[in-house]
Amino acid sequence: MNPHTETADIARLKALPKAEVHLHLEGCFEAGVIRQWAKLEGLALPRPEEDLFKFSGLADFLGFLDLACGLASTQERMFELSYGLSQRLAASGTGYADVIFNPTHWHAWHGRLGAMLEAIDAGFLAAEQDGLPSVGLCVSLLRTQSADAAIALVETLTSMRHPRVVALSVDGNEATAGRTGPRFAEAFRRAGAAGLRRTVHAGESSGPEGVWDAVELLGADRIDHGVRAIEDAALVDLLAERQIPLGICPTSNLVLGVYPSIQEHPIERLRIAGVPVSLNTDDPALLGASLVGEYSLCRRTFGWTDDITQAVARTSIEASFADAHVKAKLLTSLGSW
Ligand SMILES: [Zn+2]
Repeated sequence: MNPHTETADIARLKALPKAEVHLHLEGCFEAGVIRQWAKLEGLALPRPEEDLFKFSGLADFLGFLDLACGLASTQERMFELSYGLSQRLAASGTGYADVIFNPTHWHAWHGRLGAMLEAIDAGFLAAEQDGLPSVGLCVSLLRTQSADAAIALVETLTSMRHPRVVALSVDGNEATAGRTGPRFAEAFRRAGAAGLRRTVHAGESSGPEGVWDAVELLGADRIDHGVRAIEDAALVDLLAERQIPLGICPTSNLVLGVYPSIQEHPIERLRIAGVPVSLNTDDPALLGASLVGEYSLCRRTFGWTDDITQAVARTSIEASFADAHVKAKLLTSLGSW
């Protein structure tokens, strides 16, 4: 594609009605904001600002998240962060997003989940009132938490019934935490029984066995990543048959070394096998990704036509935990893209 056509394609992809379903609040810190907050706190950054987001791997990356989240210690900073996330969504023409948020990373807020949800909600609410996209929150467990801590979180969420919270999630490094499906089964069962949706990180830092556990033990409505399901044909068949959607983040997988190149990324093989796949940015600010960029990358690499692009966008909307009204509105406008 010549540069001129590519620019025109980017504009069309921005206009494509779509949702994003795999995006972390922790991954939406801008480098300038971190620098400013660190300065106010008299804290030294681990690397110069221009190299701040150059990670040596998943462990380095997750360690950095703790530092960044530790700086978001006040209501005003949480507001700034969630409002900024909504602006980022609008910049890619995203109509709705399910945003994952993991309370364990935010040290200043430990033991104050209610206050923290209010602070995040205030930013999203103000954004919606300013005409920016609407957002649902998926509150996430960390892989290394205990079964009791997981159940306690679910109990807190179900007693609060905060309207912003749409789902229970679990994330974190499965390569270091090992197999955790059995440990979280009861928490996910209770979440489902209380009407929360369920989304599970698997098949990124774990192989297909993590995805099996997500489906069979955690009752996942959706899998975050799930790409390594490709290593198990029976699992690919199951995902296709039950239409369990995968929230795939190609750039994240490349930056964090899950695949050496986009050509070797399995999204196209999964899509052709009938697995519902959507495109997402995971931790866009930290990884230098944008949703429009993910669509553009797949169109260029796999030769996706407008029909395929539209089908992937449709999956993103259908796989989201948006309410029926938001979904219907997005699907209608997608039809006339
Ligand atoms: Zn993720």
